[in-house]
Amino acid sequence: MSLLISQNSDVISLGEICNFQKDIFEKSRCSCGSLYHQCDFWGDYCQDKSISDPICYAARRSEASYLVDSSKTAYWNALRPFMLRRSGWNVFVIHMRRDLPSVIRSAKKGRNTHLENGVIRKRLFESLRTCFGRLIADLAAIIWKLFGFGPYLAVNYQNLREDFDYSVNAIGKFLNVDLSIAREKVLKRQALDVGHEVSGNRLLRAGPVYFWI
Ligand SMILES: [Zn+2]
Repeated sequence: MSLLISQNSDVISLGEICNFQKDIFEKSRCSCGSLYHQCDFWGDYCQDKSISDPICYAARRSEASYLVDSSKTAYWNALRPFMLRRSGWNVFVIHMRRDLPSVIRSAKKGRNTHLENGVIRKRLFESLRTCFGRLIADLAAIIWKLFGFGPYLAVNYQNLREDFDYSVNAIGKFLNVDLSIAREKVLKRQALDVGHEVSGNRLLRAGPVYFWI
């Protein structure tokens, strides 16, 4: 979803930006394929230590109206939207919902960085951890909505695939951004621009990315 939104040039997708320092330490790669210190977008951030917060750096570097933070809001990250709001950001929450069995299946595959490096590392009680993580993330989003912390939109993953036009229109209207480029690329089965996302899905770094509907 972050990729779809960021096809608009006024939106920059940061990926799971909460993992940035760990990614740099582990010498992981940006979605453009480069090591962060060699990346066109993040290279200056790695060299220049005057801005410690990568989100502030991205805001200044890109001058985009929207920055998409796809950090998972499970466990210790559950308060992330609230903390960002407290720091002065105008936060729009898009609550991506997906059926639990699919979430567990995805979690059981392992961490993206491990899969990319061919490492097989199973965690104990993966299904249970995933259930709790999802519960916490859902609770955080519902509290955000119920107590009116800011704009909120729920998007169902399955609907995004099965009723693409409806979901994309809803997201475009919610953010007041034109998503016609994303819509056109998907309908014409063209590759999406992967930008410079941190961490997250290894498929971003595996070649052209398409969104099939
Ligand atoms: Zn990059």
